[in-house]
Amino acid sequence: METRESTEVTVRKTNLTPKAIIYQKFGSKACYKVEEVQESTQNGCPGLAIPQKGPSLYRCSLELPELFVVSDVFKKKKDAEQCAAEKALKELGINPAADYPTEQEPWDALIERMTYLFSDEFLQSVHPFSGHLRATLQREGDLCGSVPASVVAVCDAKLSNLCKILNPKVEANPFLALSFVMRTAAQLSGSVVTTKGNLSIQKKNPYPSEIIELIDIQKSDSLQNTMVEAVHIPFSLDKTVQPVRLNILSDGYYLDAIAQKLGVTDANKVLLSRAIGKASSETRLHFAAPESAMLDVSADLVNLEGPLNVRASYFCGQSIYGDAIMASIGYTWRSKDLFHEDISLQSYYRMLISKMPSGNYKLSREAILAAELPSVFTTKSNWRGSFPREILCSFCRQHRLSEPVFSTINLPLKDQSSSRSHKEMSVTEGVEQETEYANGRGIATGDQESVESASMFRCKVKIFSKCQDLIIECSPEQIYKKSNDAIHNASLKVLSWLNEYFKDLSMPVEKLNYLADVLHIQFYPENFFKAFLLCSSVHSLQHRGKGRKLPEIRSVNVPHTSPDVCSLNIEGLDSGVCPSTESLLCISYSVSLVTEGKHVKQLLESNDEFEFEMGSGAVISPLESVLTQMSVGQSAFFSMNLPPCEYILASTDDSEGIISLLTSETCCLDYTVTLLCVTEPPEERMEQALFSPPLSKQRVEYAVQHIKQSCATTLVDFGCGSGSLLDSLLDYPTSLEKIVGVDISQKSLSRAAKILHSKLSTKSDTSIKSAVLYDGSITDFDFRLCGFDIGTCLEVIEHMEEDQACMFGDIALNYFRPKILIVSTPNYEYNVILQRSSLTNPEEDPDEKTESQSCRFRNHDHKFEWTREQFNKWATELANRHNYSVEFSGVGGSADAEPGFASQIAVFMRKILPQEDDVSENENSAQNCKVVWEWNSVDRSDSSL
Ligand code: SAH
Ligand code: MG
Repeated sequence: METRESTEVTVRKTNLTPKAIIYQKFGSKACYKVEEVQESTQNGCPGLAIPQKGPSLYRCSLELPELFVVSDVFKKKKDAEQCAAEKALKELGINPAADYPTEQEPWDALIERMTYLFSDEFLQSVHPFSGHLRATLQREGDLCGSVPASVVAVCDAKLSNLCKILNPKVEANPFLALSFVMRTAAQLSGSVVTTKGNLSIQKKNPYPSEIIELIDIQKSDSLQNTMVEAVHIPFSLDKTVQPVRLNILSDGYYLDAIAQKLGVTDANKVLLSRAIGKASSETRLHFAAPESAMLDVSADLVNLEGPLNVRASYFCGQSIYGDAIMASIGYTWRSKDLFHEDISLQSYYRMLISKMPSGNYKLSREAILAAELPSVFTTKSNWRGSFPREILCSFCRQHRLSEPVFSTINLPLKDQSSSRSHKEMSVTEGVEQETEYANGRGIATGDQESVESASMFRCKVKIFSKCQDLIIECSPEQIYKKSNDAIHNASLKVLSWLNEYFKDLSMPVEKLNYLADVLHIQFYPENFFKAFLLCSSVHSLQHRGKGRKLPEIRSVNVPHTSPDVCSLNIEGLDSGVCPSTESLLCISYSVSLVTEGKHVKQLLESNDEFEFEMGSGAVISPLESVLTQMSVGQSAFFSMNLPPCEYILASTDDSEGIISLLTSETCCLDYTVTLLCVTEPPEERMEQALFSPPLSKQRVEYAVQHIKQSCATTLVDFGCGSGSLLDSLLDYPTSLEKIVGVDISQKSLSRAAKILHSKLSTKSDTSIKSAVLYDGSITDFDFRLCGFDIGTCLEVIEHMEEDQACMFGDIALNYFRPKILIVSTPNYEYNVILQRSSLTNPEEDPDEKTESQSCRFRNHDHKFEWTREQFNKWATELANRHNYSVEFSGVGGSADAEPGFASQIAVFMRKILPQEDDVSENENSAQNCKVVWEWNSVDRSDSSL
């Protein structure tokens, strides 16, 4: 399948990172675990008095089939991973820099390694191969101590690496290693023996009896036979995959048990594939060595011949011949005991569907019969299950392709003229590049959100084969505020396209091309079909089902419902709370297999709480279309034709029962679903989607206009949050000299500090002389908040209980007494437009928040949302109490058209009173806030308190 290998490897050897080399050698068997090593020292923002988690340090452990290493501690996860990989390479004796200059050296190394593997000392070590050695000593007669050559070739990483150096094609076809192993053994005639016509190696002189005795003693406490479940994969696609039970005798060799099931005399005729599946498992495909392999192993190429086992080959990316057994059993470096795990038919089908993008997603949601790979990526917070990037990376690994290469393009928003000089950053191996922005304002913290707020991102992704042939390229147009979202979006496009391909593997190229165009994908048919050669035979077989005609169900005439749905029945009262696009739904459901006439009904899958974003295609379309007709509290029942049977078999642990039902009766699936709850889309997303410029930007512009008009030099932002207003203000020329923010959220304040710090320390033309952030409640008096020219309180009061909001009003106007106070809050009446659904009598009793009403607020943290009348009343009375005048305005929508502005604004203006000085001196010097960050232009540096 792979070509150009020999040139590739020599080129790569010098350029590849340790991790890439590990990946080449071990693929998904290399399991990296990065752990955070906490050290609360610096926080990337001098003077910030809130203890920060970062800068986090990372340590990485790397688990390989025969090795476990731990890296040093690093600031970046990537570096820790590379260090672990480097250590592993060292342990494995792989030196990426050093080539073997002559052909002889790897041969010598091979001989040395094999000598060691059959040495007395090695027998006692914990190593995957020594486990085999010890077990084979229990074999009977001639076979005692005889090890299958295939085991030598796959169980010792160092030896197999040497084989790869001798012939890089070993990577693609590990059975080539067999001939190297046999030839090495032939040269070691002093210490090992090989039998003619047999693929096995045996130590020439027996091990010393004291070592044997030691092993016997260790063995004695595990005298139980073990039953291991495995699956038998016939080479003939007409025969189905069957479960097999391997009876492993405590005093036997497990490969002999497998040999027996394969119909050969003993393990010496069994070949092992590379390990597949999870890193912690020992899943391999086992098959009988074709006769041709026995005949001439000394030839440079072992051309295995026989009927190709397409399914088995598809799983491991190697050619497997004849019937095969997939079993998770073997020895590891972790223990001297035999490791084994059951592989049931269900796990076989789960492995099978995980090779498809949608199957992988369904598994991540544990909802094989209900979930579907969504077609759109809106936001990270609305996504459930594995993220698109993870699925794409896993897909590439599963199909033995190179890791996807992502390039994100940074489109600065503020300075349009510089948008031509995009920064393009390459990200390989799916690693984040959060710290790589060098645009002058990026600060190296994980706190991407705030730093990125001034840029937008687009992402391009490329998929290459193992030998670097370009297969797919995708450059979606969508722009995201976060680079990771852009990466997920691009990944999802590729996955969606692949998914269409997997749904219909016989799709003509023209149609694939058409679908690709729509998704901004370019694919290279020749490379593409080469990479997915076996898919069509494996998956399409499953799609054909078991030759039974799918049931024809009489369709009850239901409008607006997908034709796949039959006998739809919705029960329960219509509560009026209906899902709309982009709302989050929570449902409970169950799916059963039912025979015609409903005589037998067997539960396949159920879920008490399943959450997803409506309209994104996150559930199978018939289910989504049924849900559009439901309201909260209602339940629906319907039947559907059978999906591909690999999905059914992946969902049930009673494979045999289900298979017998499927083959003997006409069946369909019965769905029961209850709509538990609907959550409206979050405020920010709605605002972004509906207003241009976004409402938040319009609020800032509104404030700026007042600052300019009033020539304000001091500003306090009550409830400043992550500093979006303060940050944006710095982009406009104003008369401001002092800006202050107050909030109760330390997390938000930390973000605000970081973003202000980075902006103030790079901006030379700012009028700002001082900036302070306080941690404290705006309902508490603090003299340092008194006497400002302008106060802002944007979209804050609705986050407090109503009495607290009133208290803030009184404290602000009675004590803080800014010349101008701008207060904004959502206009409840406008929600009808935002949510495209009608209000349930807002005037009726706005104080009593029923369950369904609270769902209708723009944000779940909102304690209330006022109508225009409520807001006017509050503001007018407040102004009157404290000698302020008030004017009403807003942003989004208009004052004249119903239902008014989206965000309503009150501008309070202090009336000049004779007894009141401009600078109001207050006797009370209470300090209820804590300075968490402060910046002064005098020394142009942050000063810590
Ligand atoms: N003004 C910001 C943030 C709005 S979100 C903007 O327009 O982007 C509301 C903010 O109010 C949150 O950051 C929350 O922490 C803050 N908040 C809520 N109650 C508060 C209180 N009693 N005192 C200070 N801040 C409060
Ligand atoms: Mg709000």
